[in-house]
Amino acid sequence: YLAYLNGEFAPLDQLKISVLDRGFLFGDGVYEMIPVYSRVVFRLDEHLSRLEQNLAAIGIPNPHSREAWRELVLSLVAQQTFDDQSIYLQVSRGPAFPRNHAFPAEVSPTVFIFADQLEAPATVLTEQGVSAVTATDVRWLRCNIKAISLLANVLAKQQAADAGVAETILLRDGLLIEGAASNIFIVKTGIIYAPAPSELMLTGITYDLLIELAGQYGLPLQLGDVTEAMLRQADEVWLTSSSKEILAIVLLDGQPVGNGQVGPIYKKMLGFYQEFKRTVMRR
Ligand code: PMP
Repeated sequence: YLAYLNGEFAPLDQLKISVLDRGFLFGDGVYEMIPVYSRVVFRLDEHLSRLEQNLAAIGIPNPHSREAWRELVLSLVAQQTFDDQSIYLQVSRGPAFPRNHAFPAEVSPTVFIFADQLEAPATVLTEQGVSAVTATDVRWLRCNIKAISLLANVLAKQQAADAGVAETILLRDGLLIEGAASNIFIVKTGIIYAPAPSELMLTGITYDLLIELAGQYGLPLQLGDVTEAMLRQADEVWLTSSSKEILAIVLLDGQPVGNGQVGPIYKKMLGFYQEFKRTVMRR
């Protein structure tokens, strides 16, 4: 597991950062998780574009050009011993002393990237679906920023773990927002619905791709408020993320979703997604 830290490539367990790093002290940074299939980096430019927007949103000067980021990621991918990878890329504001909340005058960002082996979701999950629970979204109001300060997401995901289910779906003021680490789509009478992008949720790269695929293949899709009632009465509920791809949620808070089986629109969308992946890998 070769990793990268501030200009240096080394085995993951040998890299060290300062205890004064603001990523460590304040959770002051942003990140990306990028899947790699057969050494082809999936949607790299979309991930780098989101990274650039996130850096700008929190006022961390971007240390690299798009081309330099691309080369850095490709170089790390090329140096691994395995083909399917998940690339974790994090930029924190960097180390500073004394400890002050406001941005330090002199600080340079810490760039950390590592690759792990990526396991595609097991067939049993895509064929049988997964379970989820709901919880109140207690996060801040800038969830569009992919911040490394993930305490509320960690606690939400632990609720899922404690319940023995795959994901916690977050609700705010009676509306569906997203999962603890995923975006959520629902289907009702043949129409796909998802919350429109807002500051309350992360615009997932997978979420964007599903919207693109729905348009391309003519599946009706509407973005806008999805109420808790719509979620609970849905025929299908899906979660999406770069690592989980698309999974159907067939049991929500112990109640079957629709007929409790993986639905027909899910199967179509998963087919389109897998075909898209194959096309990218052939290029
Ligand atoms: N929302 C949250 C809170 C997430 O953590 C993630 C995945 N990291 C997503 C949505 C899905 O984003 P993506 O499709 O880019 O993986």
